[in-house]
Amino acid sequence: MRVEIIKCLQDNYSYIIVDEKNQIACVVDPSEARPIINFVEKKKIHLKYILNTHHHYDHVGGNLELKEKTQCKIIGAEIDKKRIPGIDIYLKDKEIFFLGSSKFIAIETPGHTVGHICFYFDCDNILFSGDTLFALGCGRLFEGTPKQMWSSLKFIKNLPNETLIYCGHEYTESNSKFAISLLPDDKDLEKKKNKIKSLRKKGIPTIPTTIGEEKRFNPFLKVDDEEFLEKVDLKNMEENMVFEKIRKLKDIF
Ligand code: ZN
Ligand code: FE
Repeated sequence: MRVEIIKCLQDNYSYIIVDEKNQIACVVDPSEARPIINFVEKKKIHLKYILNTHHHYDHVGGNLELKEKTQCKIIGAEIDKKRIPGIDIYLKDKEIFFLGSSKFIAIETPGHTVGHICFYFDCDNILFSGDTLFALGCGRLFEGTPKQMWSSLKFIKNLPNETLIYCGHEYTESNSKFAISLLPDDKDLEKKKNKIKSLRKKGIPTIPTTIGEEKRFNPFLKVDDEEFLEKVDLKNMEENMVFEKIRKLKDIF
């Protein structure tokens, strides 16, 4: 399968998963319908499914128009069946869904919203992380608790290092500024921040990232890392509390 990055709205990304062999496609989190329709019409492929990570408008905004135009089916979390427009297929935690020649596992990752799910294509080493994990950051806690979000992130953190992460927004540059504010002496982080800055200057997406990269640089994945806790002066504090503290610092950054 191939993943196409489609820029939507201000800083959202929708992703079109193209199965060339079967000439079908799915779209993850279509914020708006137009760019998706343009793509599938140009490539002459059939849009079969919409995959929604959560109910926010900037992830489901294109659902109904796309469904009307293409008769695609909409897939989302069982717990959010009342909040996802046009939903047809509900998935439970760890449920497997077959898509042409590939498959994914739905993973409940509450925190940003209570019904948030990620789509893990285990055979392809790809995770669509929505607004749970961002490159160098994580989603705000609109509905869930710090404990829920940290346990969702811990699950993601344990996926193989080479897993590609496609997240819901291009927030990487501002996330890199926050990360360096916590770890001003990290030379590799500084280098990464400069690289991100130059990519963004040219309008190039910083996505996908990988689990390995995020484990190394994302402060929200380091709240169980002794060395990090020492550097940010939060030693001897419980993991959920550290997570809450870092999240609050980012909220006001
Ligand atoms: Zn959201
Ligand atoms: Fe969002």
